Amino acid sequence: MSDSSVIEPSTRYFRPEAFTADETLTGDEREALRQRIRELLRERDAVLVAHYYTDAELQRLADETGGCVADSLEMARFGAEHPASMLAVAGVRFMGETAKILTPDKRVVMPDLEATCSLDVGCPADEFAAFCDQHPDRTVVVYANTSAAVKARADWVVTSSIAVDVVAHLHERGEKILWAPDKYLGDYVQRQTGADMLLWDGSCIVHEEFRGLELADLRREHPGARVLVHPESPAAVVEQADVVGSTSQLIRAVTEMEAETFIVATDAGIFHKMHEAAPGKTLIEAPTAGRSATCRSCAHCPWMAMNGLRSLAAALEAGEPQVTVDPEVAAGARRSLDRMLGFAAERAQQVLGTGDA
Ligand code: SF4
Repeated sequence: MSDSSVIEPSTRYFRPEAFTADETLTGDEREALRQRIRELLRERDAVLVAHYYTDAELQRLADETGGCVADSLEMARFGAEHPASMLAVAGVRFMGETAKILTPDKRVVMPDLEATCSLDVGCPADEFAAFCDQHPDRTVVVYANTSAAVKARADWVVTSSIAVDVVAHLHERGEKILWAPDKYLGDYVQRQTGADMLLWDGSCIVHEEFRGLELADLRREHPGARVLVHPESPAAVVEQADVVGSTSQLIRAVTEMEAETFIVATDAGIFHKMHEAAPGKTLIEAPTAGRSATCRSCAHCPWMAMNGLRSLAAALEAGEPQVTVDPEVAAGARRSLDRMLGFAAERAQQVLGTGDA
């Protein structure tokens, strides 16, 4: 029997005003900054790794300078394998931390260390450790969108692309799960696997704004459209999806599916890569609460929007602000991350093996 439930710790949210870091720049200023960033990347022996949710201008710069645009795990993997001595991470803080944990010898800089994530903020390490202590019989699985300290307290770290597989594997071994921090992703994983999961009460302020009723209306307007949903969204949205997946999986779906029109429920930053990957296709933003009520959401992460040309150029120039992680915490987080990376590598081998047979 599944024992899925939501525990409500005293989570601490704050919701910064959404803004675009570079919105006051003129076209000439932008071009000058882009040029300066290209030079600095060369001079500082640095490489730019950017998340799919950052501004399209940063994504283009990362691509054209030999960096990468990816999801959080791939960003960290790319950074670890790239020979550059400095990583410039355009994303949110936990991404910089993961890069630093996997490549402790490199200097990891970010445009703005204040760029965080509501899932990270809503899962303070001390409260989370106390929660884990109350449930010593459970295997602790945390999502990548957490601080290094929370990862260090966990048995496993997972990304959205591998969460179902890892929890299904643990469930088969008879293990009960303590899951944090995203209750929507946890609920989705629980329903997919049937595992016994106790859920932390966290959420992504962008994805939880997507609305099921309005999505059903939009689908009626576009009957041929396929619906792509990130599993950080509420169940009423997820259950209408043709594809539920991580950012990389959703981009792949746009290119591989035959449909011409897609309704997309994830951060609007992803449209840049989707348009690039499938230029002829029509992409429609899934409706949020902001559409119908008090304009609370524009489906764009306010923390991702803190990454800009100006702050990136300044970070490369100064080699600051640097991401640092306490070595003891980093060692603990590395253990949980390595468990996931090992599992992912093993699964990839099995898939290859199946393909050869
Ligand atoms: S989009 Fe949501 S999950 Fe992603 S960084 Fe922003 S708040 Fe966190």
